[in-house]
Amino acid sequence: MDDVLISFLQVIVNELSYFCFMNEFKVDILAIAAHPDDVEISAGGTVAKHIAEGKKVAIVDLTQGELGSRGSGPLRLIEAENARQILGAHFRENLGLRDGFFKYDDESLLQIIEVVRKYQPEIVLTNALKDRHPDHARAAKLVSDACFYSGLNKIPGAPIWRPKAVYHFNQDFYNEPDFVVDVTDFWKVKMDSLMAYKSQFHDPNSKEPETPISGEGFFEYLKARSIDFGRPAGMTLAEGFQVGRTLGVKNLFDLV
Ligand SMILES: [Zn+2]
Repeated sequence: MDDVLISFLQVIVNELSYFCFMNEFKVDILAIAAHPDDVEISAGGTVAKHIAEGKKVAIVDLTQGELGSRGSGPLRLIEAENARQILGAHFRENLGLRDGFFKYDDESLLQIIEVVRKYQPEIVLTNALKDRHPDHARAAKLVSDACFYSGLNKIPGAPIWRPKAVYHFNQDFYNEPDFVVDVTDFWKVKMDSLMAYKSQFHDPNSKEPETPISGEGFFEYLKARSIDFGRPAGMTLAEGFQVGRTLGVKNLFDLV
């Protein structure tokens, strides 16, 4: 068979498998980030808000965050599952890439392509494009490229899928957001989900080393950032996101 016929048959098989089999993992939003707690810190309110509005959400952590100065990989897996339950996210899994050492390579891309195809999200939330921790920008590039490649039918595996949009978090560095989401009513659930990461945040009895997020002031800083993001948009507390392309709206009333 020639290549054109093989490609044509592959497209037919992909389409048939999409329409004939219900995908139990299909979600509206996939939040995928380098370390457990990245999603909660930067987009916990946004995730909780959309779940409250009936959307399905999956969270995928690329690594266990095993290089973190506090806690351990296995402990962070337990904490991540507790945080998932607090947010009400439908699925959470860990890809087991090496914290600090995962690479932008075929293997990492193919693993991420597989989860994009598995969860078939409309929207993907992921790490900041530029940040203090070098894993964040690397993960951001891996995830946004994998979302594109996931739609190419010559990459074998599960049926192809390309999300409609990829939005990047704001993390340590201030990156001017392209849009903000009002999370005022979901601040408490965000904070509760963060407190599930007991090994990472302020604990007066901990003997572990101090980190940039373990101090008492970290939650104050997070709230200050959210006040700052919300203020120009007339919101009390907001999470900000960046987009690698021009944004469009269906009508002017979707903008606030
Ligand atoms: Zn991180």
